[in-house]
Amino acid sequence: MKLQIINLNVVVDNKEIIKSLNLDINPQEIHVIMGPNGVGKSTLSRVIMGDPNYKVINGDILVDGKSILKLSVDKRSKLGIFLAMQYPMEIDGVSNQDFLRTAISSLNNKRVGLYEFILDCEKATSELKMDKNLIHRSLNTGFSGGEKKKNEVLQIKLLKPKFIILDELDSGLDVDSLKIVGENLRQYKEENEDTSILIITHHPKILEYLKPDYVHIISDGKIIKTGSYELALDIEKKGYNDYLDKTITLTKEEEYE
Ligand code: ADP
Ligand code: MG
Repeated sequence: MKLQIINLNVVVDNKEIIKSLNLDINPQEIHVIMGPNGVGKSTLSRVIMGDPNYKVINGDILVDGKSILKLSVDKRSKLGIFLAMQYPMEIDGVSNQDFLRTAISSLNNKRVGLYEFILDCEKATSELKMDKNLIHRSLNTGFSGGEKKKNEVLQIKLLKPKFIILDELDSGLDVDSLKIVGENLRQYKEENEDTSILIITHHPKILEYLKPDYVHIISDGKIIKTGSYELALDIEKKGYNDYLDKTITLTKEEEYE
């Protein structure tokens, strides 16, 4: 899937969080967004997904050349967009299994057979080394941090999205879980080549499994630097300060011109 973000400005709670942001993601590409806390990374992921709390006041988001701004969240997910949330929601009273089966059925416009669903689900949960009981429990309710994140990957494996946003999927995962999650996502990407992925992360470890084509640094609502995998490694070593300071200097120079 091709996603284009053009000159986007987004307001949340009367505050402008995304400011003239541009980003092109082609089919098959893996992009990474890094940046200090509170700069608008999750806001960007929510606005792509269509959360009505995040208001686009300027610019556009195109999928395969067509604007998706007027589409509701469910229409966007039917197009194949999927957001693995930084803090997955707990929904008490809705079983994980019912949620998944309903979501698959709705995306495919036909009720998925119970037998087929159970087989797919068992295969996916065992590949993720998930406790089988999690499927029968209320969605995310009382799941540990790691279990919630694995459950997001379970949804990816079953819903088969074409554009995946991973909002800090790796935060809070122990080394072994990160390896399992990373390997499952790598396998998904190998089997679904055209899928594009936007990874929001603070740690380059997950990029050992999902090799990025581009790494972007976002600060104050826009992209201030784009580089390759090495940029992520550099930030891990040195932090953001170098990059943030440089931008400030640049802006000053521009003012003097
Ligand atoms: P990041 O993911 O980069 O850490 P966020 O996109 O979550 O940052 O948040 C950016 C800014 O927008 C923060 O100041 C945050 O408080 C604010 N913000 C995000 N979502 C909301 C919301 N639903 N209501 C009010 N403020 C919000
Ligand atoms: Mg965030």
